[in-house]
Amino acid sequence: MKVLVIGGGAREHALCRSLSQDPAVTELHCAPGNAGIAQVAAVHPVDQLDGAQVAALAGRLGAGLVVVGPEAPLVAGVADAVRAAGIPVFGPSAEAARLEGSKAFAKDVMAGAGVPTARSYVCTTVAEAAEALDAFGAPYVVKDDGLAAGKGVVVTSDREAALAHAAACERVVIEEYLDGPEVSLFAITDGTTVVPLQPAQDFKRALDGDEGPNTGGMGAYSPLPWAPPGLVEEVLETVLQPTVDELRRRGTEFSGLLYAGLALTSRGTRVIEFNARFGDPETQVVLARLRTPLAGVLLASANGTLDQLEPLRWDEGAAVTVVVASEGYPAAPRTGDPIEGLAEAEADGTAFVLHAGTKADQDGRVLSAGGRVLSVTATGAGLAEARERAYAAVDRISLKGGQHRTDIAAKAATA
Ligand code: AMP
Repeated sequence: MKVLVIGGGAREHALCRSLSQDPAVTELHCAPGNAGIAQVAAVHPVDQLDGAQVAALAGRLGAGLVVVGPEAPLVAGVADAVRAAGIPVFGPSAEAARLEGSKAFAKDVMAGAGVPTARSYVCTTVAEAAEALDAFGAPYVVKDDGLAAGKGVVVTSDREAALAHAAACERVVIEEYLDGPEVSLFAITDGTTVVPLQPAQDFKRALDGDEGPNTGGMGAYSPLPWAPPGLVEEVLETVLQPTVDELRRRGTEFSGLLYAGLALTSRGTRVIEFNARFGDPETQVVLARLRTPLAGVLLASANGTLDQLEPLRWDEGAAVTVVVASEGYPAAPRTGDPIEGLAEAEADGTAFVLHAGTKADQDGRVLSAGGRVLSVTATGAGLAEARERAYAAVDRISLKGGQHRTDIAAKAATA
């Protein structure tokens, strides 16, 4: 099988790494890719948001499967264009991707499916927003009703700040605050059958101790030793399957990766948000533990044959990923700096480096090219070992002004 992956971050590097280890994959391509992906796949320049361009590339390459990584191409209809060209594609239609692209649509689907989530109001004026804020009280949760790469959400006890965010957005969803730890649970679906993956937890704030601004994610780990037993089955039954069924009932069949961001609150499990694609950086740790070859799983989603898939096999051990970000991330990331120590980080075979924002210069040196630069990942018998190995690898890498959190999986490893 020839596979084309669309995207160029650490999530796509993780996907490409797993696909490159799958004996069923005879050729692996990625567009646009990055310097790390280029080591495991043939990379091609492409405008990721241009469905016609992506479909033409897939046709030219003779791809038997196209895997769309990021949300923006999905929302732009890239999966639709590839599907219309008769090529199997892993990823939802633009219409179904609104589950991520529009918070108001997601809330409507959840209401229809009876899925537990925060109570909320959709507001288009400041007066409406003020009323909603006062109805729930502090802490306030104000979400831009559009794609904002995880940065459109303001959680604050400052009413002025909450109102200012609402005023700056065209349409917002204001909702009740959910207490309790967060879990990311991914599921592969073909629109009917839902196959949950292993849960993970990510770290959204820039600094240790969950301080500092929100980011795309600074690290992740799996499994979650503190999570209640039966969590995956409960979420499959109360969240994932009803959502997939509701979308099919509406004629908006969802195939691809359904990502449930959950809060385990004192009043039970609640959905914080849905995403329509693999999460970054949780994918790095979830795929590190998946033993079943990946291509067949993604193809079964694309072809509607997930009901025939053997149960997934998982590594019983743990995985930890630590994101190395550039100086100034997330506000004003500095790029173009050389990255040293990449080979040394992987030398003892206990860790691997996934590239997020990198590019190679003419001399083959790897330079930083984005806010999140690397996702340094390790597995181990338990979280403590995986964490030790990941941080030992991070310590061998140098990037001027580079920053990372030092507390990824720390609490869970000692639990
Ligand atoms: P979202 O883009 O909806 O995932 O929101 C980003 C982050 O904001 C989440 O990971 C949570 O940490 C936080 N958040 C979102 N909604 C709520 C809520 N209702 N209560 C508490 N925290 C929330």
